[in-house]
Amino acid sequence: MTSFDAFLQVFATAWPVILAIDLSRYLVAAGVLAFILAVFQRTLAHRRIQPRRATAADLRREITFSLLTVLIFSLVGFGVFAGSRYGILHVYRGDLPTPGRLLLEISTIVVLHDAYFYWTHRAMHHRWLFRRFHRLHHLSRTPSPWAAYAFAPLEAIVEAGILPFAALLLPMHELTVLIFVTHMIVRNVIGHAGIELFPHWWLRVPLLRALTTTTHHDLHHAHGRYNYGLYFTWWDRWLGTTHPQYQQRFEALTQRRTIARFQEGQTKP
Ligand SMILES: [Zn+2]
Ligand SMILES: [Zn+2]
Repeated sequence: MTSFDAFLQVFATAWPVILAIDLSRYLVAAGVLAFILAVFQRTLAHRRIQPRRATAADLRREITFSLLTVLIFSLVGFGVFAGSRYGILHVYRGDLPTPGRLLLEISTIVVLHDAYFYWTHRAMHHRWLFRRFHRLHHLSRTPSPWAAYAFAPLEAIVEAGILPFAALLLPMHELTVLIFVTHMIVRNVIGHAGIELFPHWWLRVPLLRALTTTTHHDLHHAHGRYNYGLYFTWWDRWLGTTHPQYQQRFEALTQRRTIARFQEGQTKP
């Protein structure tokens, strides 16, 4: 058997598993959130960020391109798996790391990904790159959870790039990778929910304020500028790219029901 045959055999065994994991985490995360939002649509109506609704054509495009992204992610994921097998990249298997080590690996890759995302995202807003890489994602002016991976193929390659980039720099257990990609899709579908899911006091707690809310990313889709961050708000704060009305919009949205109740009480005889 040639080394190419051996490689093909590894591909035929490992890639379908990686594809199944990537596909199911997209379908489950987006599907579960879309289901919850549909079931509670009346209860959550006051938290809808934009008056416009995503159309059926929007949803079809978001799902089609997200599935294409899943395919690209699985191929890059296989590349990371093979690269680690041949000792070029550093994803290791076997005994589980200690909880402390696992936490360190996960937090390092999350912080690294946040910086990687901010800078590649800002670069893709450059006029020349925008048309080729990022325009498709912004066709979702009113995003839905299905838009989480709605990227043009070139952008999907950039987004997938974090994994080989991180695996080149840091040793990571397979479990770290699995938790990282799960966290990634969960935060992504929440960011594209179109309905603010965070409690009204979120931005008043210094530590929590550093985590992006749905309004944060929704304002990016609605205006095409500001709020380039993914998991944390700090890059936008440091670089002065936070939407000037972010906090105001968040507070107004999350307090609507309280205000309505208060007004109701005031007008009651
Ligand atoms: Zn953008
Ligand atoms: Zn988005």
